[in-house]
Amino acid sequence: MLGPVILAASRSDRMRRLISAAPVTKQVVDRFIPGETVDDIVPIVERLTAGGLELTMDVVGEDITRPEQAAAARDAYLALVDRLAELELGERVEMSVKLSMFGQALDGGHELALANVRPVVEAAAAIGTTVTLDAEDHTTLDSMFAIHEELRKDFPQTGCVIQAYLFRTEADARRLAASGSRVRLVKGAYKEPAEVAYQQKHEIDKAYVRILRTLMEGEGYPMIGSHDPRLISIAQELARKAGRKLDEYEFQMLYGIRGDEHLRLAAEGHRMRVYTAYGTDWYGYFMRRLAEKPANLRFFVRSMISKG
Ligand SMILES: Cc1cc2nc3c(=O)[nH]c(=O)nc-3n(C[C@H](O)[C@H](O)[C@H](O)COP(=O)(O)OP(=O)(O)OC[C@H]3O[C@@H](n4cnc5c(N)ncnc54)[C@H](O)[C@@H]3O)c2cc1C
Repeated sequence: MLGPVILAASRSDRMRRLISAAPVTKQVVDRFIPGETVDDIVPIVERLTAGGLELTMDVVGEDITRPEQAAAARDAYLALVDRLAELELGERVEMSVKLSMFGQALDGGHELALANVRPVVEAAAAIGTTVTLDAEDHTTLDSMFAIHEELRKDFPQTGCVIQAYLFRTEADARRLAASGSRVRLVKGAYKEPAEVAYQQKHEIDKAYVRILRTLMEGEGYPMIGSHDPRLISIAQELARKAGRKLDEYEFQMLYGIRGDEHLRLAAEGHRMRVYTAYGTDWYGYFMRRLAEKPANLRFFVRSMISKG
């Protein structure tokens, strides 16, 4: 019951101000967003890659309201690419972007987001890596898929995310699998109405398996974005049945969640990519992590009370 309430709060400016200012927030936030700047994050990137993991980096931020903020988002990603180039980590570290941070919701936002994300995709390709377009709420997805298709004309490795909770996703998965795309499949993290999305966990899990089968049997590169142990073993079984080798799909999990499992899968020879977020505009990302596991919220509230 708590999840939808937390997701509603993730869109409230009042809650944003309250939670961002709370004295204990930072230590709880650090578990999921372990740095604010590129300098903060470099030691973490080095440690994780040295441990056999690959990464996808997210500069946190979304739902911007002014074009200058979109340009700043682009520049933050370009600075990250420069840093990865210096570290010679282009092969091991890709990037995840949210198009709402690149201006998608502003006037003329579709073109603006495409114009802002293209230089990031070009810079990524120049150092041997790529970009994955995150999936946000369902109203943004037609634009996201159109931008993805456009970028793939020049940069076929550009990836995108699909969400198992949406009714539309089985059809999206068939199209993407047939076109040979890199696709990350996740359950879905936003508050979506019953007209467009499954609401029950068991329905979402069943849809996840159906969609994953389509991706595994298709021409593309499936990226399994989940911490769910049951889905991870089903994914291994589906990959085996589809005759995929270990480098023909990958697992992805979020930084701060089931870190032992990241290492276990990598030690088994799987490609394991850790989604690692950093930056100052962490509120929306953090609240979605709280909503996924209400025990995180109880821990947060207990820390506030004990410090208060
Ligand atoms: C790499 C990656 C990228 C993602 N990108 C997107 C995206 O672009 N768009 C989008 O809508 N969603 C995205 N998500 C989030 C996703 O939609 C789910 O909300 C999230 O992954 C939780 O679902 P789950 O598959 O882990 O299964 P769940 O059933 O939610 O969780 C399985 C188990 O994992 C652990 N766990 C899960 N979440 C948490 C948490 N927050 N804190 C502590 N433990 C936890 C718990 O042990 C839980 O029992 C992404 C997830 C991953 C892993």
